[in-house]
Amino acid sequence: MMRDSVAVVGAGTSGLLTARDLAISGISASVYDQKVRLGYPAKASGIISINGLKSLGIGYEKAVTNTLYGANIHAGESVMRIMARRPQAHVLDRVKLNEICYDESVSAGAKVQTGARVGSAKLDELHKESIIVGADGPVSEVARHFSMGSIKKYTLTYKAEFNVDVENEKVVDLFFDNALAPRFFAWLCPNAGDILEVGIGIDAQNGNSKTAFDRFAKKEEVAAMIGKSKMLDGYASMIPMQTARKVVDEKQEVLLVGDAAGQVKPTTGGGIVFGGNAGRIAASVISDHIHSGKGLSAYEDLFRKGFGADIALHGLINRIYSSLDAKKIGFLINISKTLGFEGFFSEYGDMDRPSLMLKRLFLRRFAK
Ligand SMILES: Cc1cc2nc3c(=O)[nH]c(=O)nc-3n(C[C@H](O)[C@H](O)[C@H](O)COP(=O)(O)OP(=O)(O)OC[C@H]3O[C@@H](n4cnc5c(N)ncnc54)[C@H](O)[C@@H]3O)c2cc1C
Repeated sequence: MMRDSVAVVGAGTSGLLTARDLAISGISASVYDQKVRLGYPAKASGIISINGLKSLGIGYEKAVTNTLYGANIHAGESVMRIMARRPQAHVLDRVKLNEICYDESVSAGAKVQTGARVGSAKLDELHKESIIVGADGPVSEVARHFSMGSIKKYTLTYKAEFNVDVENEKVVDLFFDNALAPRFFAWLCPNAGDILEVGIGIDAQNGNSKTAFDRFAKKEEVAAMIGKSKMLDGYASMIPMQTARKVVDEKQEVLLVGDAAGQVKPTTGGGIVFGGNAGRIAASVISDHIHSGKGLSAYEDLFRKGFGADIALHGLINRIYSSLDAKKIGFLINISKTLGFEGFFSEYGDMDRPSLMLKRLFLRRFAK
């Protein structure tokens, strides 16, 4: 029997964008999510590059709470200050962003069921008639049920908001120190007006993210900023740190997208742009499959072609800073500054696509 409809498990951004694009191409798409209020509570941050947001083709503007021009990268005593002339990223209200994705999917004709957890029995039932897309986050029931392998490397996170006087709302501060945030980093991000988000990620083998967060909050410069202000929200969560071994099973007609497939940047943990684009590629491949009988495995090839080099470069950068102590990262920062990289990153930096940045570097070198 030919399956000509799609069941998407998970109504995060990746699942909803997949369903929206499927519905636009005339395919019956039903989304199931265990949550009653989608996207809530927002356990993750919402720093997304402007170019990346545009690539998702969503009307995201109403979710924007702040606009960032640069970043201060701290390690040991050193700071690299990257400040672009043009805005680089928006900070978005993640609950609103989810609502926008929901509205666009439903307007396109997708059906979304909330409060609907999909377990093994339901998956078997849906799979009788529908292609399955697993967009069910970092610990995927779909991947487990269809034996597509499990992700083994995770970063554990904790983030909270504080009501403070933000000194410079145009930059995010990132702190690299493997003693404080093993294999990841800590951050201070001005979310909106006088709301500062304080967060940290640690390698899952290295203890408890809340304990690491408390240590970070006591750090001199952080304590000076948050003072005695009340913590507004505090949430622990996790980020997959490797791409799933298999993101499509042609024979079973099952695909994984977003965090379920580990489609995140191993440097920052950002997954909205890669996961959303993966969903769009998956939708287009499924459409070709249903309408013209083309193979589903094109999904993996097209995603790799579009994003494989960048995921590999992010992975390499993560491995480099994970292997050094803060003093050595600080030393690298100082050398980079001497070589003029502060200015280069300010002009040509790309937080999603380091491959484009390398291209610009080579072009600049050979254009001289
Ligand atoms: C602290 C933190 C900060 C982050 N900061 C950023 C950032 O600044 N920028 C960025 O781009 N990314 C960031 N990320 C990553 C980003 O949040 C994720 O990559 C993104 O949310 C993945 O979207 P998704 O739709 O794939 O999965 P999710 O958003 O996890 O959605 C999965 C959905 O599936 C549902 N679900 C799960 N199991 C089932 C089931 N069995 N049945 C039914 N429903 C189910 C869940 O309820 C959920 O709604 C951050 C993550 C964390 C933890």
